[in-house]
Amino acid sequence: MVGPRPIPHWLGVLLGQKFFDPCILHESAKKNEKNIFCLNCCITICPHCLPLHRHHRRLQIRRYVYQDVIRLSDAQKLINCSLVQPYTTNSAKVIFLNERPMSRPFRGSGNLCVKCDRSLQDPFLFCSLSCKVHPIFTLPNFDVLTMPLLLFLSLFSTVNLMSFFRNMHAG
Ligand SMILES: [Zn+2]
Ligand SMILES: [Zn+2]
Ligand SMILES: [Zn+2]
Repeated sequence: MVGPRPIPHWLGVLLGQKFFDPCILHESAKKNEKNIFCLNCCITICPHCLPLHRHHRRLQIRRYVYQDVIRLSDAQKLINCSLVQPYTTNSAKVIFLNERPMSRPFRGSGNLCVKCDRSLQDPFLFCSLSCKVHPIFTLPNFDVLTMPLLLFLSLFSTVNLMSFFRNMHAG
């Protein structure tokens, strides 16, 4: 089994960024909200900063229900977004960058984000990119992607699990 892969530096920075503040370099300009992330420089820029980052890889940040989101089609070019629940806005699919604060603790059954317990539609395991890439456990060699497997295995009793492994070795 492979150990947890460190997340790319730019991704760690992206998930800790604050967007939509006015750009201090273009204070007097209109539409100076910093809503673009430059992957090469690992900084957040405004549309007026673009000429300096023309040849850099960039990600457009959008707003949906007052939260930062990115288009799924943009994100998929850079990272594997499987198991993160997408939402549709303006006929485009978007995913949340970070988990959203919940007004009250959610006590329900059904499908929940494995990291933050937000309720999700069925095949998805994570409510946001951040919930997917930040490890749930800090144990060494624990890959966040083995979580579904563990959840699945925990459905069996210990006895069944033992015979499952025995059969696996015998076979
Ligand atoms: Zn700027
Ligand atoms: Zn740049
Ligand atoms: Zn979550």
